[in-house]
Amino acid sequence: MASKGINKINRIRTFALSLVFIGIFVMYIGLFFDSSPILMTITMILGFLFVLSSSGVYFWIGMISTNTVKVECPNCGKVTKVLGRVDACMYCDEPLTLDPELEGREFDPSYNRKSTQQKS
Ligand SMILES: [Zn+2]
Repeated sequence: MASKGINKINRIRTFALSLVFIGIFVMYIGLFFDSSPILMTITMILGFLFVLSSSGVYFWIGMISTNTVKVECPNCGKVTKVLGRVDACMYCDEPLTLDPELEGREFDPSYNRKSTQQKS
């Protein structure tokens, strides 16, 4: 469970993990093109690129993890990582904010700067 969190770090991790699976799947598909070496090579390279980009995303997670702030969730009491001004608890999806101005407001991811491309 808890895989469908709205916490940013969790979401990026899920995204990176799915990239690995997509890459392996694409490479696996490539095995069926054994009659066409060109198609097989293209799918292999494509799958490899997916896996490669996932390790890039993992590296990126490591980079942005240093910018997160550890806070104790008021809802479940666990220590979670907050990225940006507004983020959700990693464990219970409780909206958390570091900005007192936004305290009590409804959770809206658009409060964050759109510096990184966001999935979903
Ligand atoms: Zn929580």
